[in-house]
Amino acid sequence: MIIVLLGPPGAGKGTQGEHLSEELAIPKIATGDVLRAAVREGTPLGLAAKAAMERGDLVPDDVILGIMKEALASPSAARGAILDGVIRTTPQAEGLARVLAELGRTLDAVLVVDVPDEAIVERLSARTVCDVCQRPFTGRAPGERCDADDHELQGTLVRRKDDEPDAIRNRLAVYQRQTAPVIDWYRTHGAALKFVDGMGTQDEVLTRIRTTLGL
Ligand code: AMP
Repeated sequence: MIIVLLGPPGAGKGTQGEHLSEELAIPKIATGDVLRAAVREGTPLGLAAKAAMERGDLVPDDVILGIMKEALASPSAARGAILDGVIRTTPQAEGLARVLAELGRTLDAVLVVDVPDEAIVERLSARTVCDVCQRPFTGRAPGERCDADDHELQGTLVRRKDDEPDAIRNRLAVYQRQTAPVIDWYRTHGAALKFVDGMGTQDEVLTRIRTTLGL
């Protein structure tokens, strides 16, 4: 099963993608995670992407297509994948269609998680992430310790550079300008496009997603 998760930054795609990945036993592919790891490791990919990411701008389509292609062709994605934030422009949607055709695979669903802008600004301004496991927390202050129990080295909670107010505003503008048109592209290309309200608790949203996807 291949599912594309669309929706503004902070809509909960990462968290819900994690749940779906566990339930369906298929990997979650998140280009944001791949890029942040590259920035941390200081690889050429990371060095090229860092400035755009910190501003909240998109990195070039060909970079994303390369990551997407490699991830989908990997044996771990043989049974499917959840694509979280991987498709953010129309050329990326076209690129994914080409990659899937080459691999003889099909896209099962495009799930759009809707959250209003005010709620996004509130969520992202209150978000910290563990500097070791990268897990996001809401309402926990920078400097606190991560209490996730699945990593040995206890991390410290930090704020993502792109969760600063200017970058949040830019990411929302980028979403409207570059990513929202992807929804229409999928509509005109006959994808199984589904919408889900992303407001409420994680459990409430997951229940809606299960119903919407018929799981
Ligand atoms: P995310 O973790 O999904 O919010 O992504 C963080 C940042 O990584 C984005 O603001 C972009 O700078 C970059 N990025 C991640 N995925 C993509 C993509 N599909 N296209 C372009 N840039 C991306």
